[in-house]
Amino acid sequence: MEQVTITSINGHEVKGKDEDGIEILVKKFDRISDLKVGDLVEGFLLKDDTNPDDFYLEAVRRFIQLREPVKCPHCRSLVILHPGCVACDGTGLVEKELYDRYYALATKLRNKIQIPYKYFEIENLVLVNISFSEDPNRYQEYGVYRRDEDGGYTKIESITVNGTRTQSPILELSALLMSISKQPLSNFESQIRAYDDKLTADEYEAFKKRFAAHEAAY
Ligand SMILES: [Zn+2]
Repeated sequence: MEQVTITSINGHEVKGKDEDGIEILVKKFDRISDLKVGDLVEGFLLKDDTNPDDFYLEAVRRFIQLREPVKCPHCRSLVILHPGCVACDGTGLVEKELYDRYYALATKLRNKIQIPYKYFEIENLVLVNISFSEDPNRYQEYGVYRRDEDGGYTKIESITVNGTRTQSPILELSALLMSISKQPLSNFESQIRAYDDKLTADEYEAFKKRFAAHEAAY
């Protein structure tokens, strides 16, 4: 296994430098979500089929340097460390600041009924309240949209925020949201096709404006 530090990301072209400062192309980064410049990744050196003299790194995992690590909520909700966990890249740890934000949102969604179309932005997700009953005994449902590269949003899931009967529903909801945020979009292909609900960046801005008027009049 070789290690490189990511030095540039241009659309699908990702480059890194190895320990000797040699630049190399990095592929398969969709396996590792949210790759950023400065990340240290590990993978296999493979020959480029189109350019047999060239090599590229097939990245398989990222080393995360967490400022303040806490246990991954997804692995915690499964009780054991889950090696394929996308929320923590299988490390069992996530950044506390990020976890706290998801936990606060999950608490709000779980405990407080929101008006129709109320939306919450977190990381690359937007959650929109699609329940039209404000009866707390009814299921409160949210459409989950993921931001794509051009700033538009695609509906990938629909989740019930007050439906779980487990002992730790807020932990579980935080874990669900974190893993939805980090999974490759290809995991949601069939849902994306079924929902067929996509907003361009402009349409999303227009939605936010309409909601502000709706909220003020509510
Ligand atoms: Zn995990």
